[in-house]
Amino acid sequence: MYYYERTTGCGLIDKTQLSKEVKLAGWVQRRRDHGSLIFIDLRDRSGIVQLVFNPDISKNSHDLAHSLRSEFVITINGKVIERAQETKNPDLKTGNFEIQVTDLTILNKAKTLPFSLDEASHVDEELRLKYRYLDLRTSYMQERMRLRNDVIFAMREFLQSQGFYEIETPILTKNTPEGAREFLVPSRHKPTYFYALPQSPQLYKQLLMAGGLERYFQIARCFRDEDLRADRQPEFTQLDIEMSFIKEQDVQSLIEQLFVFLFKKLFNKTIQLPLPRMTYDHAFSHYGSDKPDLRFGMQIQDFTKLFEKTELKFLRDVLDKGGKIGGIYVQGKDISRSELVRWVDRAQEIGAKGLLWMKIEENKIETPVAKFLPADFYEQLRTVVPGLAHGDVLFLIAGEYKEAWELLGRLRLMVAHALDMIPKNVLHLSWITDFPLLEYDKESKRWNSAHHPFTSPQDGWENLKPQEMKARAYDIVLNGIELGGGSIRIYKPEIQKRIFELLGLSDEQTKEKFGFLLEAQELGFPPHGGIALGLDRFIMLLTESTSIREVIAFPKMANGYDPLMESPTPVDDKQLLEYGLKKLPIKK
Ligand code: ASP
Repeated sequence: MYYYERTTGCGLIDKTQLSKEVKLAGWVQRRRDHGSLIFIDLRDRSGIVQLVFNPDISKNSHDLAHSLRSEFVITINGKVIERAQETKNPDLKTGNFEIQVTDLTILNKAKTLPFSLDEASHVDEELRLKYRYLDLRTSYMQERMRLRNDVIFAMREFLQSQGFYEIETPILTKNTPEGAREFLVPSRHKPTYFYALPQSPQLYKQLLMAGGLERYFQIARCFRDEDLRADRQPEFTQLDIEMSFIKEQDVQSLIEQLFVFLFKKLFNKTIQLPLPRMTYDHAFSHYGSDKPDLRFGMQIQDFTKLFEKTELKFLRDVLDKGGKIGGIYVQGKDISRSELVRWVDRAQEIGAKGLLWMKIEENKIETPVAKFLPADFYEQLRTVVPGLAHGDVLFLIAGEYKEAWELLGRLRLMVAHALDMIPKNVLHLSWITDFPLLEYDKESKRWNSAHHPFTSPQDGWENLKPQEMKARAYDIVLNGIELGGGSIRIYKPEIQKRIFELLGLSDEQTKEKFGFLLEAQELGFPPHGGIALGLDRFIMLLTESTSIREVIAFPKMANGYDPLMESPTPVDDKQLLEYGLKKLPIKK
């Protein structure tokens, strides 16, 4: 019997095959011995079906079936029969049927697994990743891999239909500061020289536009040697796109159409277009974030005016330094006093110096600073929050605008999660536009690109201070998570050079790092722009997974370690020498 001649999949058995002979192959999910009958749940990628071994049908197979254990790989021949009414299993897609086995071959045995597949989601993550190939057998992971495949396939289908070429760009590339830190790969042919792994195909995709390819995409692997945070991976996947002769609106509407196509095809869901748009300044002043979660309201409001004359020392100090007082308004939740006090601790945990709470009790304000407030403060409050009523709460934070608003943004999310204010099963997509071009880095006392140095500034930038310059950049946000971002690029060498100057690069550095780009810009470079969408994050949101590790076949641990292959590994001195390298003691 040839196991590659399967006639169908376990999960595909249905009434059209009733009384027919089938050949199946797969893994033993479970074995139950019922006296003379032995039942096996057989699993392959398509699902599960019950096998029954009856000594009266095939004594050999029945004898052999005694030795089957979980995760043995087997192949069988048998007849599809209908189960007796009382043994039908409505929880199983194939639960009305079973296969009466006539032939059994054990293709491979399995030792007892390090964890049972039913419990895979509860075992320690390191163990789960060490045996990722076992974990991948669970329906949980199989479902995620299937959806990931379907999404990628649909992306390709849509972009091909829009005239895009899928083009691969190099993995061994040049160390060019684009924002993130890059992984280096030593060159044996040119000892002491290094390639870099691309943090994104940014420059190559721009050069493809210089090459007249006009519409490019790639399911691109990106590498960033950043400090690892809980949900970062050193390598991840983006849908990367670039287009020539376009404006912001063209990229945005392409992505909108892509989402319409994906959601219709995969979930039969309709997305309303155009997606909401909001400038960065608006997003920040109302939500304290450049990726606001718009599934709920509770916007940040400015209460500074009400405290102009305050004698409260901690507020006075902030106001005298030009700071602001912002707050969020929690409507109708009647938070208890002890809970309010706990929110002060939580705010401090995320870095706030303090949190001032005010609770409306009848027409009075309960707050630790009650005696410092003017008699008509309640009326004053109502000028900012007209709906204020019994049981409502205000949480106020004072400080430098950016810092205070960022904290309020985080508090807004924490409160919404804690009080269950976020509607379930909602996918809220929106665009954030008009980002600042530059960000000041206090440590190095330099301006950095907010996006990357190839992003075009908005018109009129020449006459503005660096902090006022805006970028032709846009992000797409899904449920408070940045799904992707892009921009219209600089295509004229004069502008590119001036941006490099603003970033503090000397002529020499510019030439060394980006000479090839400037030269390309002098040889007929078309106007262009693009975007990249984080594929892992997108699949994570679609599957409501808790981490991107759940949707990547072979992820690294949060600390960058791969327990499966046990990498990274040390390299011996001899091998290093071929690269012209030598180990030094590590300075801590
Ligand atoms: N290369 C950018 C990134 O990886 C995306 C883009 O500007 O297209 O974030």
